[in-house]
Amino acid sequence: MDFGQSDRLDKLPPYLFADLRRKMAAARDKGIEVIRVDIGDPDRPAPAPVVAELQRAADDATDPDRHRYGCDRPVADLPAAARDFYKRRFDVDLAEDGLVTTMGSKDAIVKMCLGLMSPGDVGIAPQPGYPTYNIGHVFAGGSTYYAPLRAENDFLVDFDAIPAEVRRDAKVLWLNYPNNPTTATAPMEFFARAVQFGRDNNILIAHDAAYITNTYDGYQAPSILQIDGAEEVAVELFSLSKAFNMTGWRAGFVAGNASAVTALNTVKENIDNGSLRAVQFAAAKALNAAEDILPELNAIYQRRRDLVVDGLNAAGWLLERPVGTIYVWAPVPGKYDGDSGAFVADLLDKTGVMVTPGRGYGEAAEGYFRISLTYPEAVLTKAVERIASLQG
Ligand SMILES: *Cc1c(COP(=O)(O)O)cnc(C)c1O
Repeated sequence: MDFGQSDRLDKLPPYLFADLRRKMAAARDKGIEVIRVDIGDPDRPAPAPVVAELQRAADDATDPDRHRYGCDRPVADLPAAARDFYKRRFDVDLAEDGLVTTMGSKDAIVKMCLGLMSPGDVGIAPQPGYPTYNIGHVFAGGSTYYAPLRAENDFLVDFDAIPAEVRRDAKVLWLNYPNNPTTATAPMEFFARAVQFGRDNNILIAHDAAYITNTYDGYQAPSILQIDGAEEVAVELFSLSKAFNMTGWRAGFVAGNASAVTALNTVKENIDNGSLRAVQFAAAKALNAAEDILPELNAIYQRRRDLVVDGLNAAGWLLERPVGTIYVWAPVPGKYDGDSGAFVADLLDKTGVMVTPGRGYGEAAEGYFRISLTYPEAVLTKAVERIASLQG
């Protein structure tokens, strides 16, 4: 029997990466060695002290609750560690009623939408951008207005270009800096403008800070919560996934506006039962040891970034070194006339290298492709050589 699918699922955009998966399988069938540099999922293990803390806590017979529902017996160390971390890194005090720990940001994005949006409501999402914002809007019965990120605006949202009827109907506006996929960063003044836009239009500004610590060359990305009064209209979603090589662990937190945090928390109480206590202990450990852990992890990405950028520039690209995220975002070679799908298909066919086409992130990203730095240097070197062979 085929039970079909709900209207909700019918409304999701086609999953572009399914087509790429087919193309990769076809290439392998032809005997081509496929070299993937497309997925943003850290290849390196989580830091040893964090793994040790997970093992300790999972095995701690003095904690009788260690295998029980994490939501009913939350580890107080985790919100405490989140608060300490934000105080140390951003000099921001997270309020008691403005903080909830999450099972990572993807989960939290959708649950936030379910908690805030009703059918007919609008959410504003950047394009190119992480697809989950739109999915959250659709699952909540709403729709998405896409705010284009353009190179000539340094890939920042142009608030003035958002039409009046969208401002009227929108409940939430998503930002993400350092940005996936464009690698753009946002200065403090941009976040000040965002907070003002939220206040003027009664719109929650939700900053997805998935890469806020993945920064290089001494650059420190700001938190939107550093803006005076930000907690009146903004939340920030922090995730341990990309920061600490912990994508599989499902750990993060959302902080800021108390009513938005409450709405998210109410959805969570009704859908999930929280993380294993050992994961909560280990996440606290990571945050408490951030200053010891992060420089080493970021140094690896910085070296990989240099290798990719230098390699492409030697072949004729004119890229600046991104100071944030774990990606390199580059225009497709001129002969593809801005068609990222054609470039990616040709690259795979001729060289076996798999990168992400900009088109996968929406119309506004056409003309670009993304390389992920979550692969060993030897793999990236080989990939860059092969990509360079299609230039000119
Ligand atoms: C990877 C990523 C996330 C998801 O992170 P999790 O916390 O692992 O769910 C969220 N937003 C962006 C922009 C990402 O690239």
